[in-house]
Amino acid sequence: MSFQDLGLSESIVHGVQCMGYVDPTPIQLRSFPLILGGKDFIGSAQTGTGKTAAFGLPILSKLGSHKEGRPRCLILEPTRELAAQVETAFRDFCRFNDLRTVALYGGVGYGPQKTDLQKGVDVIVATPGRLLDFMEQKVVDLSQIDFLVLDEVDRMLDMGFIPDVRRIVGQCRQEGRQSLLFTATLPPEIERLASFVLKDPETIEIGGRRSPAETVTHAFYPISVSQKYDLLQALLDRTNYDSVLVFARTKFGADKIAARLEEMKHSVTVLHSNRTQRERLDALEGFKSGKYEVMVATDLAARGIDVQGVSHVINFDVPLHPEDYVHRIGRTGRAQSTGDAFTLVTAEEQKAVESIERFIGQKVPRLKLDDFPYRYTALFSTSPAAKRPARKLGVRRRK
Ligand code: AMP
Repeated sequence: MSFQDLGLSESIVHGVQCMGYVDPTPIQLRSFPLILGGKDFIGSAQTGTGKTAAFGLPILSKLGSHKEGRPRCLILEPTRELAAQVETAFRDFCRFNDLRTVALYGGVGYGPQKTDLQKGVDVIVATPGRLLDFMEQKVVDLSQIDFLVLDEVDRMLDMGFIPDVRRIVGQCRQEGRQSLLFTATLPPEIERLASFVLKDPETIEIGGRRSPAETVTHAFYPISVSQKYDLLQALLDRTNYDSVLVFARTKFGADKIAARLEEMKHSVTVLHSNRTQRERLDALEGFKSGKYEVMVATDLAARGIDVQGVSHVINFDVPLHPEDYVHRIGRTGRAQSTGDAFTLVTAEEQKAVESIERFIGQKVPRLKLDDFPYRYTALFSTSPAAKRPARKLGVRRRK
């Protein structure tokens, strides 16, 4: 099946072809007929599966061309980065028609966003806080919203955004609206939100909610706390990488790792929520363009952020929530390419590691790096997988 045969509008198909997409991904094949047929649904797709296009292409096809008046499509995202990324993708998809889009998020001035709104837009991609500000200022009116997408709702729940989301949805047109909700998990709060937002929804699940992307090879590296930086350095030295995303649990930890990597002469940037919006954008753009080979980030960056060509993810700390493990390592191996993910594991993190393995339903190999001066060999005494050579997981010595 090619994009031409799926009922999308001609200008959108043209836009997609220009982006170099040839075949639709499985979630796209599932979602296009549902959206074009006017169904509401709850979707859970693995990261990097082409989710943005899965909802973006049919919605833009249905919107047709620019109409004077109020916005007709609203997409809510949990973070500024995701809002900016999704809006950029939308702009790319509709480069051959005159639909207008705007991204509304905090941390930057109100002026340009307000001007865009006043000029008239068809699609708003927003974080809840900034959108509510504009609603209070009466700059935006949601009474003509035909398409509503709540993306990464489980993350919005973690961030305490659900009451804001309800307030926003309450201001949207209720009759005749089509709504979609994306989430990896379905706790009771999200089920209640879903029954408030969606009408008679279907559930579509692609690739299982819990499994890491199949294109990622991953491994745990047991280590003592005192040798974590040395092991990180050794992994970087021995890995033939293009770009590496290093995850830390805290903002302070991320800054510290970045400082250490800088001392080791790596070109490195940091992404976390204590940085200004300008710094966050610079970090992402610099990492995408190759100016920085390493980006150290907190889980803020784990969800949905699409950086082409991340060859490796290194978890300096084991994430506390097992879902975050899947999201973090999903930053590599996106859309058909392959990637490696390494996690440094200390004795104190054993419980978190076990809950990750329970969550994903598979054992992750424990590996030992050849020729690394381990101080505590007891770390490996119970793991037969430790004997496997690291090379199998894509660790290659630099030439
Ligand atoms: P997403 O899951 O929406 O973040 O998309 C992940 C990556 O896959 C992005 O870089 C998209 O540009 C890319 N992508 C989405 N759909 C396709 C497709 N049908 N063919 C090739 N790449 C795609």
